Amino acid sequence: MKDLKHCRVLVTPTSFGKHDPRLRAELEAAVGEVIYNPTDQPLSSDEVRALLPGCHGYIAGLDVIDRAALEAADALKVIARYGVGVDRIDLEAARARGIVVTNTPSANAASVAELTIGLMIALARSIPTADAATKAGQWPRFTGVALEGKTVGLIGFGSIGQQTARRLQGFDCHILTYDPAVAPEVARTHQVEWAPLEEVVAQADFLSLHLPLTPATRGMVNADFLARMKPGAFLINTARGELIDDDALVEALTSGRLRGAALDVFSREPPDPRHPLLKLPNVIVTPHAGAHTDAAMNAMGWGALRDCLAVLRGETPQHRVV
Ligand code: NAD
Repeated sequence: MKDLKHCRVLVTPTSFGKHDPRLRAELEAAVGEVIYNPTDQPLSSDEVRALLPGCHGYIAGLDVIDRAALEAADALKVIARYGVGVDRIDLEAARARGIVVTNTPSANAASVAELTIGLMIALARSIPTADAATKAGQWPRFTGVALEGKTVGLIGFGSIGQQTARRLQGFDCHILTYDPAVAPEVARTHQVEWAPLEEVVAQADFLSLHLPLTPATRGMVNADFLARMKPGAFLINTARGELIDDDALVEALTSGRLRGAALDVFSREPPDPRHPLLKLPNVIVTPHAGAHTDAAMNAMGWGALRDCLAVLRGETPQHRVV
């Protein structure tokens, strides 16, 4: 096996190896030097740029890896994304420099699906508000919304959309999906009905986003989209914050057009604490925690490590994006 002792690898996900110390041990044994994220957050473009010189491999979290950052990549062979989304990587700039980009599809799908369902139920039954009120000595009577008999709309039916649908089967709800790359027959094999986007948007009592951020999907959930949603519906976003026009969502939530929203992701992370969405009682927020479970961290960690080392050894990685 090719000796990688001349290689330096940058690792930025702070959870890498947190649940399985063998990940760090195996990487450190394989290569000459490992540099870990000096902060407790994803890195900015400037921070990536400062750390990249001399690095051959890069196991990447949610850092901004734009063209300017990649200009400092003087030895880089591979960016192994620890996760699925590659929207923060300038893929064209990576391709132009001959840098292979990999990701870990499906590794976190079950965990994100579990959080999605948790958020749906938390919204439907006002769990955070009920918890706070009960602990404060009150005994309020909330009228919740049952999932049973309702329509759940999934926009995007890839790994996470499918895992969410699978877990929803036990709730006896009707599941609709829109995904341009999925045929209606395929959706049917998952006991899910495929429908055009406008129908999913108009019919869903719970509308959940599971599509990637691309130039075509950025800002897709705008005022017009929200006006076409069923009055009193809930919106759940565990995909990417930039899919939503925040001002339009605030308006839809304050006017009562939407009953509530649950957001795991934001256009800017962490969001400004004064952000109006954080002030609304009908909004539940979590800190981009969809993939933060023991199982997802291990699967993303082993997937990213395997593909990073494969490219450094001149082998074919399992999940190449570019
Ligand atoms: P995936 O690639 O398996 O599935 C994405 C699906 O979206 C694909 O089937 C694709 O055809 C579909 N799609 C693309 N454009 C669409 C459009 N305009 N309308 C409807 N569908 C469209 O990805 P996945 O693993 O299911 O992840 C989905 C997204 O979730 C990722 O891109 C990522 O941004 C986000 N994510 C968030 C977390 C988190 O921690 N909250 C974790 C993992 C992934």
